[in-house]
Amino acid sequence: MRVGIDIGGMSVKIGLVDKQGIAAKSVIKTASASQTPYELIEQMADAVSLLLRENSVEPESCEGIGIACPGTVDAQSGIVAYSNNLGWENVAILEAMRERMASSTPMALANDADAAALGEVLCGAAKGKDSAVLLTLGTGVGGGVIMNRKIFSGFLRGGCELGHMAIERNGRRCTCGRRGCLEMYASATALMEHARAVAAEHPQSLLCTLSGGRIPDIDGKVIFEARKRNDALAGLVVDEYLENLSIGIVNIVNIFRPEIVILGGGVSAQKEYLTRELQRRVEGKCFGGTHGQISPIVTSELGNDAGIIGAAYLM
Ligand SMILES: [Zn+2]
Repeated sequence: MRVGIDIGGMSVKIGLVDKQGIAAKSVIKTASASQTPYELIEQMADAVSLLLRENSVEPESCEGIGIACPGTVDAQSGIVAYSNNLGWENVAILEAMRERMASSTPMALANDADAAALGEVLCGAAKGKDSAVLLTLGTGVGGGVIMNRKIFSGFLRGGCELGHMAIERNGRRCTCGRRGCLEMYASATALMEHARAVAAEHPQSLLCTLSGGRIPDIDGKVIFEARKRNDALAGLVVDEYLENLSIGIVNIVNIFRPEIVILGGGVSAQKEYLTRELQRRVEGKCFGGTHGQISPIVTSELGNDAGIIGAAYLM
């Protein structure tokens, strides 16, 4: 039995994991902004001990504890260098966990998107594959690259920032400081912002009707539903979204040639409706066209559990 911990902005999810998947789970709500990182880590360590005890797992028989964390992590030293989402800087998370648990159980740390990609390879959408790329389409665009069934995170700190490849030289200004990053076009946020802007100018659009006339309520579900019902405006919004996203995926396929590309995050709820069209657009643009190996594009199978499972198998 292993433990996987997935730290998010709103909650920390902890799972007892074995080869069949997650056997038991617990969740800690991340409390107020006044909570220090080390207070949260103490809570996490106590929750792990409790979960092991409740499920009659002796701490000595736990094979490892892995932690997935958003932001820039230094896996080797076990330090979260910087996490914008959590407001953390240079947090020695593994050392603090070991101290609190007084445990010699092997522990490891990874970026959350990297861990989720590993989870999908171990028992999700990319099960049995040696290489895969996960692209998460949520508030931002994140992702993880798996090569030879291991996380490819480059040299020392950082890892792959797939959302920050530029697809427009003089494009929209990104939070990272550059212009034209994929994240500014392919995140769920970008999709919704575009739809809300055009809907405000066309109140007769189905986008407005389906959201009860409330522009801020136009979300991914409304946008895709309007397109499925042949609303012209939703059609334009979704077409532009898919075209931009396909450029990012083509770049990924041309660079890594993974066996499979997995889409996660909120937008991936559209499943085949999303992947079928993307596949067509990507096939037309990849180097070598259909003469080359075009990675199949699928949606995540594990969803929010991918990070927990991947984290549990970091050791
Ligand atoms: Zn960027």
